[in-house]
Amino acid sequence: MGAKLQTLIEFQDLELQIVDIRRQLARKDSQIASQARKLETLRAGIHAERDEIRKAQVHFDEIDVDVKSRSGHVTRLREQLNTVRTNKEYAAVLQQINSEKADVARIETRALEMMQGLENRKAALAERQKSETAEVQRLEALKAESEQARQQYSGRLATLQKRRDAAAAQIDKETIVHFERLSERYDGEAMAELLRPNPRRDEFICGGCNMSVQTDRANSLRTRDEIVTCKNCGRILFIRTES
Ligand SMILES: [Zn+2]
Repeated sequence: MGAKLQTLIEFQDLELQIVDIRRQLARKDSQIASQARKLETLRAGIHAERDEIRKAQVHFDEIDVDVKSRSGHVTRLREQLNTVRTNKEYAAVLQQINSEKADVARIETRALEMMQGLENRKAALAERQKSETAEVQRLEALKAESEQARQQYSGRLATLQKRRDAAAAQIDKETIVHFERLSERYDGEAMAELLRPNPRRDEFICGGCNMSVQTDRANSLRTRDEIVTCKNCGRILFIRTES
């Protein structure tokens, strides 16, 4: 195989390696982004729940004040019992006391239920805050991993890019443009090997699309160092050096 095609193959190989590294780094970046979104959602939930608990706490405190004021009222009514003069007045005050006490009991039952509910919610919130800490740690770990990979690959990436540029400098611009267009279409595989499925027959196929390649094309590829493309898929054909 001629030097021109040899350089193109090298160029493709370097491009594939560069793309592969970039993909790995991009995958890490997208993991970080998705973890950050997850954490954001978790935090929004915690924030909202904390607000709800605060509101419920305020409500509970109001009820507590109400119970205290009603209990104070009951105490004052009891004192009043000592000062009433008639049985009728006595009965009226006693009825007020009983009614107020019944209200206090009812409100206290509700307050107790509320307090239990509040405690449960606070415990659940504490669990969510614990998992927030774990998710923050996971995010930090992902960032560290990504940074480490970036550092690990930076030298290799720079070397590959230097070699890629050196290879590109040996190829004419038109071929590079042609190559890049194919590369985009075939996910980096702009070139295809010319295959000879049966060694006893002079028949060739394109390793990219498996369609047959005319013998005169195959021959010009074997004898001359020039770009020969597959008529079907357009890939640049090459032959492995026959050893
Ligand atoms: Zn083809």
